[in-house]
Amino acid sequence: MSKFKIFLGPAGTPGFTRGGTLEGVGDVAAIGLNCMEVQFTHGVRMGTALAKKCGEVAKENNIHLSCHAPYYVNLCNPKKLNASMKRILLAADRISVMGGGVVTFHPGFYGKLETEEAFNRVKAACKEMVKQLTKGSLLGLETTGKHSQFGTLDEIVGICKSVRRCVPVIDFAHIYARAVGKIDYKKVLDAVKPLQLKHVHSHFSNIEYSAKGERRHLVLDSKPKFKPLAKEILRRRQNITIISESPILEQDSLRMKRCFERLGCRL
Ligand SMILES: [Zn+2]
Repeated sequence: MSKFKIFLGPAGTPGFTRGGTLEGVGDVAAIGLNCMEVQFTHGVRMGTALAKKCGEVAKENNIHLSCHAPYYVNLCNPKKLNASMKRILLAADRISVMGGGVVTFHPGFYGKLETEEAFNRVKAACKEMVKQLTKGSLLGLETTGKHSQFGTLDEIVGICKSVRRCVPVIDFAHIYARAVGKIDYKKVLDAVKPLQLKHVHSHFSNIEYSAKGERRHLVLDSKPKFKPLAKEILRRRQNITIISESPILEQDSLRMKRCFERLGCRL
């Protein structure tokens, strides 16, 4: 049987890293993880020369890179649309230079819009961005954690069905928070099946929530539980990237790794 691939790593450089993204990539490899999400959440400040270097170090160490676009994005608001698309495309450009990968972003907020209108605006914006998307990059629409944010699993899958080079970023903790403390991993993975993805991109952490949805990401000792997800992934032989968004990033990635190993999967 061919081997399927599981990538585990932190959202950002490990906590112990001295330096920036470049050093972080080396550190991720040194502790036995195999992916990292470069954080452009507060703006894309990395130049192309550094991006190229990060890509080279990642390649040498077999580290799979993706990035997170700035938080200041709202594709539902016409006044914010152009600046938002620019930010996402700039992050996409940097990930292209690094060798290609997913650029994750939170699509926007409903505001006063009906959900259908919000959907149509996000879809139109994605179609527009794809026209300008640099080589090797994919638009990763994240399932969001607050009821005020566009991005239920159905909405994200819907956009990805109709716009090429758009892929879902399944944030399991957000789905759990949005459903006020419920998640069925099997149903979630079944929901993206029609997209026939070769590889699923995801985020995992534990989470605190209220009736409005997500409050903050937590260390992996509460909920949702990771082990049932690991079992489901192994049962399906699902190719997947799981980015840890826990407050102790890489330590929880290592915990996920040990969980897979205890279930008999060598990573
Ligand atoms: Zn995110």
